[in-house]
Amino acid sequence: MKAAKEPIIVALANQKGGVGKTTTAVNLATAFAAVRKKVLLIDLDPQGNASTGLGIDRTMRKQGSYELITKQLALPDCIQETLVPGLSIIPSSINLSATEVELAHERNREFYLSSSLNDPVLDQFDYVFIDCPPSLGVITLNALAAAQKVVIPLQCEFYALEGLSLLVKTIEHVKKNHNRDLSLGGIVLTMYDSRNNLSNQVASEVKSYFGQYVYENMIPRNVRVSEAPSHGKPAIVYDMACTGSIAYINLAKEMIKKEQIAARVSHVSA
Ligand code: ADP
Ligand code: MG
Repeated sequence: MKAAKEPIIVALANQKGGVGKTTTAVNLATAFAAVRKKVLLIDLDPQGNASTGLGIDRTMRKQGSYELITKQLALPDCIQETLVPGLSIIPSSINLSATEVELAHERNREFYLSSSLNDPVLDQFDYVFIDCPPSLGVITLNALAAAQKVVIPLQCEFYALEGLSLLVKTIEHVKKNHNRDLSLGGIVLTMYDSRNNLSNQVASEVKSYFGQYVYENMIPRNVRVSEAPSHGKPAIVYDMACTGSIAYINLAKEMIKKEQIAARVSHVSA
């Protein structure tokens, strides 16, 4: 069991691309920082969209998640500040795309990230969010082996549920074999459009399968959310009042409330 003062590590995972993992990672991390949590965002996607979305351009990414996961550098050397007070980042670079191949034949290849995170500096943070790449390869397995919670962003579209059973099986596999502390934190419905029947159908189908695991706060499709990364800012900084930002702030509040209830239950049953 982890000690109470250690951060809660949340992996944003879904092997599908374009479902809102990065947008959710960046904006949740910002929303948690806005309520005075100390937050670390780890960009584990070689495309580096979370890094770009937080204003860390490629020239500022000499050391980051590749150096961390391959143990070339220690955790403190990989962390950078962002424009958001209280939010730090470990950026990614294209080097990370070699990791799948480099670790393919290593023993314990799933544990490289969790062992690299085993550093007292991590205890400075309340929350760590890990933005996963769109695959269930070694990088995502490393994220799941290091995390306590998985949050699955699910786009409200026709194929939303496709591949979800494989993802759930993968989470169960990691929990059984690599990380007993891992659990499903919840499913976030993204790019929701209440005027669209399909969006409503997908939302009710996902809720009927996953019930309480689906967060009440859905993220609406909102053009301000999609514009923000090109300004190197989270939507919450770019336009705090837009519907997407408000939804992410409410989602963060819902997550904090869930944590508090879970902590109370485990305290009572201890
Ligand atoms: P992933 O990380 O899963 O590949 P992204 O977070 O990069 O997905 O999102 C995919 C695309 O959808 C991006 O262009 C992003 O700006 C856009 N997007 C994400 N969430 C929203 C939203 N709520 N409203 C509008 N566009 C969104
Ligand atoms: Mg992404």
